Amino acid sequence: MNIVLMGPPGAGKGTQAELIKKNYPIPHISTGDMFRDAVKNGTELGLKAKSYMDAGQLVPDEVTIGIIQERLAQDDCASGFMLDGFPRTTPQAEALDQVLADMGKKLEAVINIFVPREVLLQRILNRVTCNNCKTVYNLRFLDDHKTCTKCGGELGYRSDDRGEIAKTRLEVYLEQTLPLLQYYQERQVLNSIDGNRETDEVFEDIQELLEKIK
Ligand code: AMP
Repeated sequence: MNIVLMGPPGAGKGTQAELIKKNYPIPHISTGDMFRDAVKNGTELGLKAKSYMDAGQLVPDEVTIGIIQERLAQDDCASGFMLDGFPRTTPQAEALDQVLADMGKKLEAVINIFVPREVLLQRILNRVTCNNCKTVYNLRFLDDHKTCTKCGGELGYRSDDRGEIAKTRLEVYLEQTLPLLQYYQERQVLNSIDGNRETDEVFEDIQELLEKIK
């Protein structure tokens, strides 16, 4: 099962990716997580990515495509993968098609989670993540604002979820990533799902789709 999860920041991609991971044995490949880990560990990749991430801008295509190419060549991707946050530009989508073609593979579904813009900004500004297990919470639904209910880890804001940077990330999505919907529509792999509902309802629709391509 070779799939891509798409949607603006705050659409719930990370939350749905966790549910998919629990139900289907495919690796979850999030470029955002890869970059955040690299920044945390102070690697060369992290140094390259940090200034772009801090500004809410995209890391250059050649850097991002390189890490995805390496990751998809790893053994655990042999029977499928779920990309989350990649591709985000047309050159990235074209490069992905090429990498997959070289490996004798192709994308089976692109899942686009859509949510109205005003809801997105509210979700982003209320989003906290466990520093330990990376579970994402909406502050409005948390009694205790400090600890993760799954592992007891400390909760924190993502630095790029604050004010102007969050708005920039939404603008960047609209300008650079939204055109990809047409790209995938033309290739007949696009499936759009209403993300402005309860988590379980959204997942039900995703599951229905995944059962068809499994
Ligand atoms: P995310 O967690 O997916 O929202 O990604 C956080 C940040 O990582 C983004 O705002 C970008 O700076 C960077 N990033 C993640 N994925 C990509 C990508 N496919 N292309 C370029 N930059 C990316």
